[in-house]
Amino acid sequence: MPESRAGPVIFAAGTLMPISSPPLQDGAVLVREGRIEAVGDLADIGRENPDTEVRFFPNYTIIPGAVNAHAHLGFRRKDAPEGAAFSEWLGTLIERLPEKEAWTAQAASDCAREAIEAGTTYMAESSPYGECLPQLAESGMAGTVYAEFFPHEIGTPEESVDSIVAKVRELREGLPERVDAQVSVHSPYTVDPESSRLAARRTREMGWKLAIHLSESPEEVEFLKSGTGGLADIFGANEWGGVGVSPVRYAQSVELLAPQTIAAHLATGVSEEDIEVLAQTGVAVAHCPRSNAYLRCGVSPVPAMIASGIRVGMGTDGLWSSPSMNLFEETLFAVELHDMSGAAGLELATLGGARALGIEAGSLEVGKWADLAVIETSWESRNLERDVLEAAAGGGVVATVVGGNMIYNRLGT
Ligand SMILES: [Zn+2]
Repeated sequence: MPESRAGPVIFAAGTLMPISSPPLQDGAVLVREGRIEAVGDLADIGRENPDTEVRFFPNYTIIPGAVNAHAHLGFRRKDAPEGAAFSEWLGTLIERLPEKEAWTAQAASDCAREAIEAGTTYMAESSPYGECLPQLAESGMAGTVYAEFFPHEIGTPEESVDSIVAKVRELREGLPERVDAQVSVHSPYTVDPESSRLAARRTREMGWKLAIHLSESPEEVEFLKSGTGGLADIFGANEWGGVGVSPVRYAQSVELLAPQTIAAHLATGVSEEDIEVLAQTGVAVAHCPRSNAYLRCGVSPVPAMIASGIRVGMGTDGLWSSPSMNLFEETLFAVELHDMSGAAGLELATLGGARALGIEAGSLEVGKWADLAVIETSWESRNLERDVLEAAAGGGVVATVVGGNMIYNRLGT
C-alpha cells in the first residue's frame, strides 16, 4: 500500500458533503499528513493555501468513504452456496472449507479491490485466525481484521484464548499505520461459553476490540433456547446450548457485550428487552440486511435500536451470503427495507460505522483521517442525499481516497 505521504493537498468538488454538517457548494478539504486540516469553501481554502495542489471534481460530490463494519474478504461470488435456511447454508459452507483454501488469498484481494472501487475506505474484516489480513493490509484501505478462533481446534478454553491472543500479537507486527488486528469470538454456537468469557475478559483488560456474530438466525435462537435444531445437528459436540435464554441474554451472561464489541446481524429473535440490554451494555451493531435476507434470517429491528441510542453501522458480510462488497448498495437496501431517508442511509454507511467501530473517520471534520469517496452526483441534484446514495450504490464512485492517498481514480485526472 502507498505508505509515503505527499505534501498537503486540497480535495474539492461541486458538492462537498461532510455528513456531520450541511453540504457545501464548491466545498473543499485541506489534507495534511493524512488528516483533514480545514473544511470549507474552495475559494477560501484555496486563497489561504495558495501553493497547495488542488484536486477539483466540479461536477461530482465528495463524501466520507464507506465504513464497512462487518465483512469477510475470503469468498468468491461465482461459487456461493445457494440461498437457503441458515443452517443448511452453513452446512454447505463447512463442507467446502477444504477446497476454499486454494483460492482464499486471491478472493480476498479481489473483494478488497471491489470494495475500494465502491468507495470503501475502512473495513472491519473477520476471518479464521486473521487469514485475510495480508490482503487487507496490501489493499490500501484502512481497517481491522478480527481473527476468529475455534476452541475445538485448539484445546482448553485457557489454551484457546492464550493462542488467539498470541496470534493477534504476531499479526500486528509490521502492519501499515491504519491496519490493525483484533480478536473475534465467532458465534454462540461455535465458541463455548468459557472460551467466550475468557476472550471477552482478556481483550477488555488489554483495551482491545472484539467482534462477534450474534442472534443471526432462527436456528441460533433455537440452539441457545432449547439445544435443538439445525445448528445442534451440525455441531453435535457443542453441548452448551439449551440455556433457555435469547442470544443477546446469553452473550451478556458470558460478558461479550461491551462498548468495544461490534456485534453483527442481530437479525432475528431480538426482543424489546434485548434492545434494552444492548443499549445498556453499550455494544455496537453491524447491520447486514442483504445477507440476512439471503439466509432467511429475518429483519433486524434497526430503527428501534437506533432510537435506543445503540451505535449502528452497515456491513456487507461476505460474497457467499451477499451479492457485492459495495457498502452503499447494502445501505440502499436497508433504506428501502426500513423506509429511511437517503440522509439517514448515508450517515449509517459512514459516520454510523465509524462510531460503531470507535475510529476517527466517517465524516469530513478537522482532525479526522481524510477518507473520501468521489461520487457522480452534481449540486443540481434534486434529492441530494438520496441521489448520492443511489449513485454510489450503482457504480457511480469515481475515486477513493484513504488518509489523503488516492487509491482508486477512474477519471485518471
Ligand atoms: Zn459475518
